[in-house]
Formats: sequence, C-alpha cells, structure tokens
Amino acid sequence: MKQVQSFLCGEWQYGQGKEQTLYNPITGENVATACTDGLDLAAAKAHAQTAGAKTLGEMTFAERGQLLKSMSLALHEARDRLIDVSTENVGTSRGDAKFDIDGGIGTLAYYAKLGKDLGEQRFIVDGGPDPLTRATRFMGYHVKTPKRGVALHINAFNFPVWGMMEKAACALLAGVPVITKPATSTSLLACEAVKVLTEQNVLPDGVLQFVGGSLQNFFELLDGQDTVAFTGSAATGSYLRRHDNVVNHNVGFNVEADSLNAAVLGPDLGADDEAYQLFLRNLQTEITQKAGQKCTAIRRIFVPAGMIDQVQEDLIERFNDVKVGNPMLREVSVGPLATQQQKEDALKGIGQLVEDGATMFFGTPEKPDLVDIDHDNGYFIGPALLRVDQPQEHPSVHDLEVFGPVSTLMPYDDENEAVALVAKGQGSLVASLYSNDKKWVENVLMGIAPFHGRVYWGNAKVADQATTPGMVLPVSIHGGPGRAGGGEELGGLRGLDFYLQRTAIQGDRGALNRMFGIKEA
Ligand code: NAP
Repeated sequence: MKQVQSFLCGEWQYGQGKEQTLYNPITGENVATACTDGLDLAAAKAHAQTAGAKTLGEMTFAERGQLLKSMSLALHEARDRLIDVSTENVGTSRGDAKFDIDGGIGTLAYYAKLGKDLGEQRFIVDGGPDPLTRATRFMGYHVKTPKRGVALHINAFNFPVWGMMEKAACALLAGVPVITKPATSTSLLACEAVKVLTEQNVLPDGVLQFVGGSLQNFFELLDGQDTVAFTGSAATGSYLRRHDNVVNHNVGFNVEADSLNAAVLGPDLGADDEAYQLFLRNLQTEITQKAGQKCTAIRRIFVPAGMIDQVQEDLIERFNDVKVGNPMLREVSVGPLATQQQKEDALKGIGQLVEDGATMFFGTPEKPDLVDIDHDNGYFIGPALLRVDQPQEHPSVHDLEVFGPVSTLMPYDDENEAVALVAKGQGSLVASLYSNDKKWVENVLMGIAPFHGRVYWGNAKVADQATTPGMVLPVSIHGGPGRAGGGEELGGLRGLDFYLQRTAIQGDRGALNRMFGIKEA
C-alpha cells in the first residue's frame, strides 16, 4: 500500500501510530495510508523560519519569480503522472484532473511573471511620498515587507494541486516560507506534486514543507508573525479561527469557505439570445464539472417567473445527454464524488431540500445509470436539478451547500426580488448575471456586489469569449464575505498583501528616497 509521506526539514518522513486510509472513489478500494503521529512539526516550523526565511529573504522578487517558474515547469513536465494519480485518488476525469493540475501550473506561471516584473527589489513601496507637515523634507512612505513567521496553508479535498499552488505562489513571492497541509482524503495527489518538486530539486531548503495528514498540535506553535490560509467548510474554518493562539496572538487568518453561488437570468433574454445559450452552457458546466464539487459551482439559479418552465425544459434537454460513470471515458462528464462520506452528505442534502419543499425535476441521484461501471462500490451520484417556486419561504435552499452535481431553479418577480434572493446566500464567492440590458445589470450588480467577491456578467458581446463563472483566475480576487469565509486570495499583487506587513516610514525624504531607490522628478 502506498504511503502519503510528509516533507519536513528537507526529508520525506512517515509517522508511527494511527493511520488514515485513502480510497479510490471509482472502485472504493484502498489506495494509500497517511500518518503524521510523532513527526516533529515544531522542528519543521523552526526550519522554515531559519533556512526557508533566510533564503527567501535574500532573494529579490525576480529571483522568487524564477523559483515559481521552475515549480510550474517541473509540474508541467510531470502532468501525465499527476493526472493518473488524480484519477486514482480523486476519481476525476482527465478534463477535471487538468482543471486542477493546470490551474496550479498556470497560477505559478502567472505569479512568476509578476515577480519578474517587480524586478530586483525585496520589498514594495506602497504609494507616497506623503507630506506629514508643512515641511518639505519630513515625509512619509508606506513599505510592505515579508512577515517573519510561516505561512500555514490548509486546503480542501477538491483541488489538491491548484489549492496548494495558488496559496504557495502568493506566499513564496511575498517572501514567506510555506508549510502546506492538504485534506487527507486526497493527499496522495498533493504529495505526488510536492514529490515532483523535490525530485527536480527546485525547492530551496525550507521554503516549502508538506504535512501529509493531521497537523497534530501545530496551532499551539503559531504566533503573531505567522499566517494561516484555510480553505474548507465554514464549520472547520470558524472552529480553527477561534483557536486561543490565533485569537491571542492576532495570527493573520484567511478563510475560503463554502458558498451558495447564484446565476441570475435577466428579464430581457429569450431562447434565441446568445447570452441565454451562454447561461445554459455555464449551468451545465458548473453543475457537472468535478461532479459539482467546486466551491464556485452554481447552486442557485434565479430566472424571471415567466421563464421558469422554459428554462426547466431546456435544462432537462441538456442534462439528458450528461453521462455519469467511468471518468476515464471521454463521453463521461460526471465521475464520482471524492469520498463515501461526501456521497452520503450530498444525498442527505438533496433529501433535506426536498423535505423542505423542493421538487426534483431531473435526476435519480442515488441510482444513476452508470457508464462502464459494473459494481456498487464507487462514490457516484447522478446530477439532481431541483425547483422551488416560493424561494422566499424555503428554509434551506439559501443555506445548505449540497456538495455534488446539484442545483435549484427558482423564480423572481422583479430586480429588487432578484437582489434580495441572491443576498439570502449570506455572502458568496461568485454570482453570474446574464443580460444585454445594461441598466438592469447595473442595478442588480450594485445590489449584489457587497455580498460577493466576484460578479460575472455574460452578454451577447462576450458570449463566445467568456470563461465559465466557476473558473478562478489569478488576476481576479477569489474569496467572498460572510458565509464564504470573509477571505480574499489571488487578485494579482493583492494576493501578496496577506503575507506582508505594511509599515508607515517617516523621515528625511532624500534619505528615504535613496534607501528605497526612488527617483523623484
Ligand atoms: P473540511 O472538512 O472543512 O477540511 C478542510 C481542511 O481542514 C482539510 O485539510 C482538513 O484536514 C482540515 N482540518 C479539519 N479539521 C482540522 C483541525 N481540527 N485542525 C487542522 N486542520 C483541520 O473541508 P473539505 O471537506 O476538505 O472541503 C469541502 C468544503 O470546502 C466545501 O464546503 C467547499 O465549499 C469548501 N471549499 C471552498 C473553497 C474556496 O475557495 N472558498 C475551495 C474549495 C472548497 P483533514 O482532511 O486531515 O481532516
């Protein structure tokens, strides 16, 4: 049986004690074990803050960018090997595996370029000079320097490579060493990605360490120079951010949690509009990709009341062609969920939505027709499309994230109601609007923007160019207020701010200019 090892203090290690088992979601077979009992995580933290911090501290942004580029290239070369492990441990189709792995490779490459552009400096001057008095020499600047602790990264099970690398890219470019911990259930893939990096010798000593399993008592070691970037369920995020050490030392804590993302169809669109076809295409992708196990998947679909029957019919027609089963086959677009527990939770969630008044107009989630699967051991569920005709009254549809290929169609009467219904999600990662009516979009956008980290607008002009709303691109921020965690990642250089301390520096303008290499006209 394979072991998920940890990469600590420059060595691959395996714990001694209680092991956790990892499974193949397609067959239910054991694929690996993980154990961190007895591993010296305190030594790993010290190693990061000595060897790792020293190396990164001496590197310029351009050199850190070069490090990220080498990581991106190494992973790219090992792409097929990683895709195979993704199928084995995450149950993904080739396309879904690439979505995760290429996402990680691309984000590293993007931040590598930002590092190159920042050039030979080691800190960032943020604006200025700012006059402090009437005097012309005594001036202020704001300077951002890397924190002296570790960046602890805790990731969710659904993006073992992208989740790990998008966080690492920002921290390493900022100059802060990383200790990264994937969700144990899919940690074989995350471990393989780090193995690629150590085999290719691209990681300087201590800059990135990997915990393959439980973090043990790591939170007891955190102090005010450390940062924690967490992705996972709202419940775990809220539990961890209340840890005494986090609260008492004001440890920087970023949470990316779950989200009831909405798609809203504008009242101006009909079946012949390109933007309506984009809306349908996006719904299909966002409900089926990664078997709906994406934090940015569309969970709530709002359409004008007069369009709900048409949209329902069009969705049924599209979903009739969606095949569930062996993700190795090209024609299959929905593979299994990642774990047996995820399958049970998703079926229970659908049951709850129905018990609370939703009707299921498409799907037999608990018994889908499976392509090329002749056993009952995998973690498959079929797509389920639900409908709620009184969305203001349904007790759980705006609150319960069913983490599978599941979404609920609902009507709205006017734009005010559309805004109010979207806001009932209590803060989400992304909402998508579909309309060619600029005034309608402006009104809805202004109403829902405070509840979102990102809003996507699909109209006729971008229908053939737009990405899907669930695709997280490093140039735009990722995160959302309220129940989405209140966090923010990526967004170009904004993503570095979490790892940097901004300090106001006041003094002699000429001397500060020389120190910071600023040439004033
Ligand atoms: P989870 O159960 O909350 O676990 C998330 C991570 O926290 C895992 O690495 C887990 O490790 C770790 N963890 C759990 N308890 C811990 C503790 N006491 N101390 C330290 N670490 C602990 O979430 P999940 O099931 O992996 O992920 C699914 C959720 O993530 C969904 O709700 C989804 O919406 C959300 N998500 C959000 C985003 C986003 O960017 N906003 C992205 C992806 C997923 P173990 O596996 O070892 O327990």
